[in-house]
Amino acid sequence: MSNRPIYLDYHATTPVDERVLNAMIPYFTEKFGNAASISHVYGWESEAAVKQTREILATAINAKPEEIVFTSGATEANNLAIKGIAEAYFSKGQHIVTVATEHKAVLDPCEYLKSLGFEITILPVQKDGLIDLEKLEKSLRHDTILVSVMAANNEIGVLQPLAEIGEMCRQRQIIFHTDAAQAIGKIPLDVEALNIDLMSLTAHKVYGPKGIGALYVRRRNPRVQLASQQHGGGHERGMRSGTLYTPQIVGFGKAVEIALTEQETENQRLIELRERLWQKISHVEGIYLNGHPQKRLAGNLNISIEGVDGAALSLGLQPIAAVSSGSACSSNNVAPSYVLIALGHSEKLAYATVRFGIGRFNTVAEIDTVAEHLITTVKSLRKFSVVTC
Ligand SMILES: *Cc1c(COP(=O)(O)O)cnc(C)c1O
Repeated sequence: MSNRPIYLDYHATTPVDERVLNAMIPYFTEKFGNAASISHVYGWESEAAVKQTREILATAINAKPEEIVFTSGATEANNLAIKGIAEAYFSKGQHIVTVATEHKAVLDPCEYLKSLGFEITILPVQKDGLIDLEKLEKSLRHDTILVSVMAANNEIGVLQPLAEIGEMCRQRQIIFHTDAAQAIGKIPLDVEALNIDLMSLTAHKVYGPKGIGALYVRRRNPRVQLASQQHGGGHERGMRSGTLYTPQIVGFGKAVEIALTEQETENQRLIELRERLWQKISHVEGIYLNGHPQKRLAGNLNISIEGVDGAALSLGLQPIAAVSSGSACSSNNVAPSYVLIALGHSEKLAYATVRFGIGRFNTVAEIDTVAEHLITTVKSLRKFSVVTC
């Protein structure tokens, strides 16, 4: 393991924390019951474990346990929220507002709805990655049924102004959905204070297992109607059928519980690592910090470097640091990240981008190694490049 590159891609996914894994293990073997089996102890103990995670998640976001609907992850939660609202509120209106920098799991369902005849407004972002609240306000209409704006961006880490958005939506009785896949366990989230009606969550970005997530669905003030996107045994109050994946649900609960307990001290530590990294590399010629400098996730540092070739930079970093670059591969073709393009970057600069996702298991020594390697990589690229970009 020791000769593998240093993992700095915690926004893509995280390892499962040992404490999470240990909590999950009994639910694969002895405690294997179906949480829907009501006539024996096997079912009861699974049902109790599921209930416990529901309570942990509800407490984490100031909701009620009945408002948590388990899904396979944030992709499914986003699909259920967006398509489920579109279908349920069709007679009220067919206009949806979202943002250019959302995850594909929000943009693609919106694109799909557009093909069915819905009208989608995609708001631009400012240079710092935040939405312009005035533009949002102007986009809202009498037939707007949903606003979907993410809590924390997966590439540039910026935190959108949820409280202001929530208030604007509530005043107009428009449903507000937020994709909080990157935010849960990392920043405080309160569905009451923020007037959030739907919130997508996932476990694998917060040291829980892959393949499990949840959608918070508001039941009171107002009661949100949602059309199921998967029909079957009527699980999750009819909103998402399918036998509950108990071990993953147990892991999800444990992961969020740990993250909340450690949130403050861990954020402090991550900010120190991030600042250390930035201080070491900020003197590199032509380097930019992407996204708002303060309103961002503690573990996110996203930079672009003018005048270096993006592909060469990415290749140069690979042996030492497992980071994400400014390109997004979708079905074989490489394209510059649309999030960076939305910030106003040229394609070339977007490619020459590095996303550092710093997380729970990173150390000061690792940060120092990666900083030095980035500096020498850029130096050698500049020395040997014949054509200047
Ligand atoms: C990772 C991520 C998703 C997708 O979550 P899955 O659980 O992998 O489906 C959606 N939105 C954001 C912002 C993400 O970071």
